[in-house]
Amino acid sequence: GIARAGREKRYRLGVMGGTFDPIHHGHLVAASEVAAKFGLDEVVFVPTGVPWQKSHRDVSLAEDRYLMTVIATASNPRFSVSRVDIDRPGNTYTVDTLKDLRRERGEDVDLFFITGADAVRQILTWRGADELFDLAHFVGVTRPGVPMTADDLKHLPPKAVTLLEVPALAISSTNCRERSRQGEPIWYLVPDGIVQYIAKRGLYPQDQSGVPRDR
Ligand code: ATP
Ligand code: MG
Repeated sequence: GIARAGREKRYRLGVMGGTFDPIHHGHLVAASEVAAKFGLDEVVFVPTGVPWQKSHRDVSLAEDRYLMTVIATASNPRFSVSRVDIDRPGNTYTVDTLKDLRRERGEDVDLFFITGADAVRQILTWRGADELFDLAHFVGVTRPGVPMTADDLKHLPPKAVTLLEVPALAISSTNCRERSRQGEPIWYLVPDGIVQYIAKRGLYPQDQSGVPRDR
């Protein structure tokens, strides 16, 4: 009844979108930290289909990025992985991700979209920006090398985004790919199973010329 309604706790779902090419400990620490600070019941990792900002480089197959995300999150009972973005044809836009998750999970769920400092600054350039803040609360996490202050949020609607400082891990997928191509170790930057999956599938083959392919 009405008296109880206010006390019923709504399910709190974190959403961690990314290319995850490959997933690394920076992603996992950010998700874990937001989950703890915001009392999230679950964080769903959502590998992108075709990332519209990254069409200039060859992104690994969606299936490989999906499987790496599953491997990296498997041991955490509060982490899960969604295929909504890789199963939707065309470019991936966060507004579609949030609408699909809302449709799947129902109206009784509060969504918290987790995003790094580099992405927070661009939110207003995303497709459907006017709708985004009604669909989810945004949590911007700090990232080494990307300074972020309250000033970066001044163009965003008030209370739409919360900034959270997370333990700094200076790891990026770009750097992991480059290290792989140069024959340098990525042990401990990514989970053990990811090191082994990359080797098994030959995802970022060592460049014989010594020149990283992304440049
Ligand atoms: P790439 O170098 O290929 O762009 P990436 O390391 O930035 O890869 P993404 O898959 O692009 O990883 O990132 C997904 C999300 O995770 C983004 O919101 C990004 O800002 C955030 N993120 C990535 N690495 C870190 C990190 N080390 N600390 C905090 N947030 C991170
Ligand atoms: Mg990135």
